Amino acid sequence: MQDRAVLEKKVPASSGDEALITLDRISKSYGSAEILNKVSLNISKGEFVSILGPSGSGKSTLFNIITGLVPADEGTLHVNGEIGYMQQKDLLLPWKTVLDNIVLPLDLKGFDKKASRAKADALIDRIGLRGYEHRYPSQLSGGMKQRASFLRTFLASGEIMLLDEPFGALDSITKGKMQTWLLEVQKELGVTILFITHDIEESILLSDRIYVLSSRPGVVKEEISVEFDRSNKPGRLLNPELLMMKEAIKGLL
Ligand code: ADP
Ligand code: MG
Repeated sequence: MQDRAVLEKKVPASSGDEALITLDRISKSYGSAEILNKVSLNISKGEFVSILGPSGSGKSTLFNIITGLVPADEGTLHVNGEIGYMQQKDLLLPWKTVLDNIVLPLDLKGFDKKASRAKADALIDRIGLRGYEHRYPSQLSGGMKQRASFLRTFLASGEIMLLDEPFGALDSITKGKMQTWLLEVQKELGVTILFITHDIEESILLSDRIYVLSSRPGVVKEEISVEFDRSNKPGRLLNPELLMMKEAIKGLL
């Protein structure tokens, strides 16, 4: 198949970078339903890696396994660093202000409340929520809620962030702004991001590497290294390579 050729530029062998997460042949079933079948993947410090797959392919289950919420049936998992997990639902508490929601995990860990609030306050401008710190989630737009949720995850994380379809519920205009914003924030804060999406274009735009999962049971069909426009990811949207890669990935799913 001609499309295939676009994906054939093989992923460079792991360059000995510091692996923060390594999964080796992870399998999981719920009762008789096989959800994940021998999934292996890795992510190194500073990378942006996406897990792309149709709904029901076990993506959220994979994150639940990585974070230890759910045990795997088989396989091994190594995590080297502190993980922050932003689940598919934003889970902001409606009765708490934006700032109190953002510092909630730190409060729960028993950290000094004043210091936590100062830490959060210092990043409020970066997520564009200055002036909204003392509002309630219901007074925020979808994109603002996602940004608050992102900052909460970031403050509770060490170096690794797991983001489960963070922009899935947003309209395409807000989504585009959030994607650009996320790339900027990743550069500024120097975090490692493992990102779940079912949106092919989104995965190409944001990622250094993409793992393509098949539908149930989730199996890694392909590992793709996105080499073009690495230093200017927003520019990928205007690059014909994006369209070619998109078609090639469509052919896999
Ligand atoms: P994705 O995030 O890719 O949409 P999920 O990991 O949420 O997929 O779910 C994969 C499959 O596993 C779905 O069919 C879902 O119904 C099933 N599943 C997820 N969690 C459970 C659970 N706790 N018990 C039984 N089945 C589950
Ligand atoms: Mg999911």
